[in-house]
Amino acid sequence: MTADAGLATRWPTIVKQPAAVPPHLADYDATCAEFRWDDARRALNGLPGGGLNIAHEAVGRHAAGPLRDREALRFVRADGSTRSYSYAELDGRSARFAGVLRDLGVQPGDRVFSLLGRSPDLYVAVLGTLRYGSVFCPLFSAFGPEPVRQRLHLGGGRVLLTTRAYYRKKVAPVRDQLPALEHVLLVDGPAEPGTLDLAELMAAAEPETEIARTRPDDLALLHFTSGTTGTPKGAMHVHEAVVAHWATGLYALDLHPGDVYWCTADPGWVTGMSYGIIAPLVHGVTAVVDEEEMDADRWYSILAEQHVTVWYTAPTALRMLMRAGTERARAHDLSALRFVASVGEPLNPEVVVWGQEAWGLPVHDNWWQTETGGIMIANFVAADIRPGSMGRPIPGIEAALVARDDDGDPIVRDGAAVLVTDPELEGELALRPGWPSMFRGYLNEEERYRRCFVGGWYLTGDLARRDADGWFWFVGRGDDVIKSAGHLIGPFEVESSLMEHDAVAEAGAIGVPDPVAGQVVKAFVQLRRGVEPTDELRLDILGFARKRLGPAVAPREIAFAENLPKTRSGKILRRLLRARELGLPEGDLSTLEAPR
Ligand code: ATP
Ligand code: MG
Repeated sequence: MTADAGLATRWPTIVKQPAAVPPHLADYDATCAEFRWDDARRALNGLPGGGLNIAHEAVGRHAAGPLRDREALRFVRADGSTRSYSYAELDGRSARFAGVLRDLGVQPGDRVFSLLGRSPDLYVAVLGTLRYGSVFCPLFSAFGPEPVRQRLHLGGGRVLLTTRAYYRKKVAPVRDQLPALEHVLLVDGPAEPGTLDLAELMAAAEPETEIARTRPDDLALLHFTSGTTGTPKGAMHVHEAVVAHWATGLYALDLHPGDVYWCTADPGWVTGMSYGIIAPLVHGVTAVVDEEEMDADRWYSILAEQHVTVWYTAPTALRMLMRAGTERARAHDLSALRFVASVGEPLNPEVVVWGQEAWGLPVHDNWWQTETGGIMIANFVAADIRPGSMGRPIPGIEAALVARDDDGDPIVRDGAAVLVTDPELEGELALRPGWPSMFRGYLNEEERYRRCFVGGWYLTGDLARRDADGWFWFVGRGDDVIKSAGHLIGPFEVESSLMEHDAVAEAGAIGVPDPVAGQVVKAFVQLRRGVEPTDELRLDILGFARKRLGPAVAPREIAFAENLPKTRSGKILRRLLRARELGLPEGDLSTLEAPR
């Protein structure tokens, strides 16, 4: 790999004080070795008389027990006021929503879609749909008409919940191309032609008292991937996923009764579903939902005023808070906060360390993807942090690195994948199939699904390294790595080094063709607010990167950019930087975030 010693050696380990270590994780290695998924299955009680249903585990059983009146969801409105739902209330409303589906003649297994902001209706609909035994598919509310049409069509949506405005703008123009879409329910009625008023239907419906006796392998959720590497894929998830949501809620997020937990992800993406709805409710904690968009001061106010104890967010937001400065962070009372975690993109070590400085808490990176349904690799509350590392596999998960040939294909011998064990070398991150939240297919793409499983492993498409102690280090997406003069360069390492320069706020690195080296690195750099983009600065950053990374890995060229193109889930779209640079077709941009 690269000549650079890597991120591992540049940032000192953050050592956890023993007082911060919860007893159930005190002996991490023993915990991992002893853990069995069956233990996690037993921790959930299942439906009385048999069957497993996410809605029962998340709200039904709490509503019938001592947590009945506990606050389940707390919505924070634009003006900072809140509206809370107890477990009993949420259960009652979702039973009523299930009654609406029944009255409409919807069948278990049918697909119910939503195109909604983070409003209570969305949460009620998710739980009501699962309770009824239908399949829920959330769409991100900022999608335009074509991405909405594409996904509704692919998923065979029979019911859609949305608002009047979204209906007019995004659904009505494509409705005649969606013959399977029978019922459109408006959450902010009155109904218009071709739609129904949800409030009216809810008022008229008898609650569905029974919870569908779904089996662990029955389909529950459909999630489209972020579209970072190409056209989004529809990943299919089953009710048994809740077992992993429970286990990871405990081991990776340290959720305990009494916690006020905030996951900033939108339920239009898998994080906002698995960890914005299911995991916290299964643990009986209070989940905060911000109905508004990201804004540094608003976010700090929410953390402080709602006394958030556990916070799960993303690198793009954390980098934005870092840009907003340490002073802003210190102006708020964050004393309730005890655990911060991040997912979605590689987390630059600088951000981990900055968290420690600004809040007195390091950020715990964890890794997973839509396909895995839940967290797979994590920095644990009980373990020291090696800044820049994704951490170690959660209990019950076996992860490895599969060797790839020069074409990037996995190497298999005698039916078994060849594994990389040298800590200096990278391989494709792979997981041993069989964990409960594993996806059970890509919608209408069976062959693509089959190709993910090779030589006894599920291949993730990401490249990583594993150090001698078993910590995993992200190198890059398989499609994003840069091959230069015999080196394989991960954009993450280049970007993280650039971010160490005082003037740099964010960076995206790609490979561009070079007659001698094959490819050389070009970096797009967004400067911190108020910094002038001069030629002198460009040279300074180039020199800085060269010193840190060595000439073989450092960018040959740097361009200043006002904004880096990102997906709506906040990931840098390197494929678009590359396409624009090389004058290639831009590809599927359905998830591209409009520049702010
Ligand atoms: P698509 O599959 O459509 O290209 P996507 O992979 O971005 O989009 P998601 O499933 O939302 O869709 O994202 C999962 C991917 O995000 C992972 O495979 C990985 O590349 C990246 N990722 C997530 N968490 C981390 C992390 N902690 N460190 C590095 N990369 C991460
Ligand atoms: Mg992916």
